[in-house]
Amino acid sequence: MRMVDGERLDVLISRDAIAARVREMGECITNDYRDKELILVGILKGSFIFMADLCRSVDLLAEIDFMAVSSYGMSTKSSGVVRIVKDLDNSVEGKHVLVVEDIVDTGLTLNYIYGHVKSRGATSVKICTLLDKVSRREITVPVHYKGFEIPDAFVVGYGLDVKERYRNVKDVCRVVED
Ligand code: 5GP
Repeated sequence: MRMVDGERLDVLISRDAIAARVREMGECITNDYRDKELILVGILKGSFIFMADLCRSVDLLAEIDFMAVSSYGMSTKSSGVVRIVKDLDNSVEGKHVLVVEDIVDTGLTLNYIYGHVKSRGATSVKICTLLDKVSRREITVPVHYKGFEIPDAFVVGYGLDVKERYRNVKDVCRVVED
């Protein structure tokens, strides 16, 4: 792939390791939600590739929906005050919701989304994230399914971006400035 001048990507989690872990997570979810009405809610845009792979590892009749949120302000640091850019298409009332996120950092964004989905009358709301930067957490959010814990580094690939670049990179990578 052609890179931005002076930038290099170092693989942190390989595509093979991701594929194996996503399969395991899908099997767990399949067992836990058997005989339940499940809606997988992906948080755009970062979760789109994870959702595509995860939902095909879930062997259940599940609905798929998406939400998109954006943080208020220009700060790169999460404020926890988020604006819903795209809300759920369908009612979650009486259903079991699994929120599918790319990465949990401070937890502020997910804390907001969790509250929002709960307030819509879901029977249960659980969280599934591919990546978790536990050391950065500022607020406790219940993460029920977790792919990998990662160190405090900015990562891209497998859906994650920096300035909308590198979402289509197959591995989860660190961006290194040469
Ligand atoms: P939180 O509210 O948990 O601090 O922020 C979560 C959001 O911040 C994620 O959904 C993601 O959009 C963004 N984010 C946090 N860490 C990273 C990272 O290492 N790489 C990328 N590309 N986005 C991140």
